Amino acid sequence: MMKTRKPSPPLAKECGTLKPVEPCPRKEVRRLLAEVRQADRQVKSGHYIKNEDMKAWLLSWGTDHELLVPKCACGSSEF
Ligand SMILES: [Zn+2]
Repeated sequence: MMKTRKPSPPLAKECGTLKPVEPCPRKEVRRLLAEVRQADRQVKSGHYIKNEDMKAWLLSWGTDHELLVPKCACGSSEF
């Protein structure tokens, strides 16, 4: 019975060979993607602050009629 030689996986252990002080770039990308996905979920579920509301609020700073913190687009003031 012939034993077939296992092909070594090319660059499969790439991340494991990095020094501990250097964060794995793949982990960093995953973290960013997770953040984007979370923000995306909030928008899709209707929980976000409208861009124009946010802008108007920021522009009101330092004026005589400062606006209240903009409300969540769903209507509640959870933010
Ligand atoms: Zn909301």
